[in-house]
Amino acid sequence: MKTDSGSPALSPVCDLCGKAAVFLDRIRNRHLCAAHFIDDVEERVRRTIQEYAMVQPGDRFAVALSGGKDSTVLLHLLRRLMPGADLVAVTVDEGIDGYREATLRSAGANTRRLGIEHSTISFLEMYGKTLDEIVREHQDRACGICGILRRKAMNTLARRVGAAKLATGHNLDDESQSVLMNWLRGDRERILRRPEEFGGQGFIPRVKPLMEIPEKEVALYGILNGLFVELPECPYMHSALRSEVRGILTSLERGHPGTMRRVVEGQARLSQHLLAVPRAARPLRACERCGDPSTARLCQACRLLHTGAGSETIVSLDR
Ligand code: SF4
Ligand code: ZN
Repeated sequence: MKTDSGSPALSPVCDLCGKAAVFLDRIRNRHLCAAHFIDDVEERVRRTIQEYAMVQPGDRFAVALSGGKDSTVLLHLLRRLMPGADLVAVTVDEGIDGYREATLRSAGANTRRLGIEHSTISFLEMYGKTLDEIVREHQDRACGICGILRRKAMNTLARRVGAAKLATGHNLDDESQSVLMNWLRGDRERILRRPEEFGGQGFIPRVKPLMEIPEKEVALYGILNGLFVELPECPYMHSALRSEVRGILTSLERGHPGTMRRVVEGQARLSQHLLAVPRAARPLRACERCGDPSTARLCQACRLLHTGAGSETIVSLDR
């Protein structure tokens, strides 16, 4: 490559050691080589785990492993950062033709490589149908329905393997998208959710060790560590509001670095503030049909599966 003056452009080098750089940190305005980038990601995840007290000594830790890039990186990172921890990988097979087979194979290969116990549950086993069958009539709502049913399946599986915590691979992009989607849907319950309501009352507490790492950095970490091969995308992915929100936030982040972080920090400050005010969100109780935690008589999954309602009324959806 040549510069405007015609002389060869210098390849950027790591600001810490002078080796060839693989990454430009636009927030801290510095280049990093592969080794320093990997160290930096691991240090930030270690800090997140400590700051939020995500691990208690002796905890059995379930790691939600879809087989995709985020959860694969999470599993490897947790093994590396917590070599003695009691980890078990848990996978939900939603039953998505042409997509799940490859990611399930990848999940199996990664757990075998790391020597980590692996347990799977399927929508077919839990609900008697695959996701493809459930959403045949309303494919545009696939992600919403999938989110509700997967959350319930994942909770059931985490309980079955005796986990004290469930770690998910949500990254900074996912977290900022969820915050913005809650506002776009006017989902008061989720906007006003207090920190203690993220687990407890029948839900295995969830932790998100990658929540401060942008998606691009998770992917680069995985590539530099040789963790994944090309995998198919879920065929329903583009029908979701999330994919539009992702586009908006990605473009904002490009023009205004730090936007995603500020969105997530703003929501975290609001959640902390709610600790000091009388309870605003509806309390959780047991679903009359299945006993899982719910804000109504029936949980969202039971409304969806047994009354036919729910797919229209879904407003609170996580990935
Ligand atoms: Fe489920 Fe949507 Fe994710 Fe596909 S993209 S696995 S349908 S939440
Ligand atoms: Zn229920």
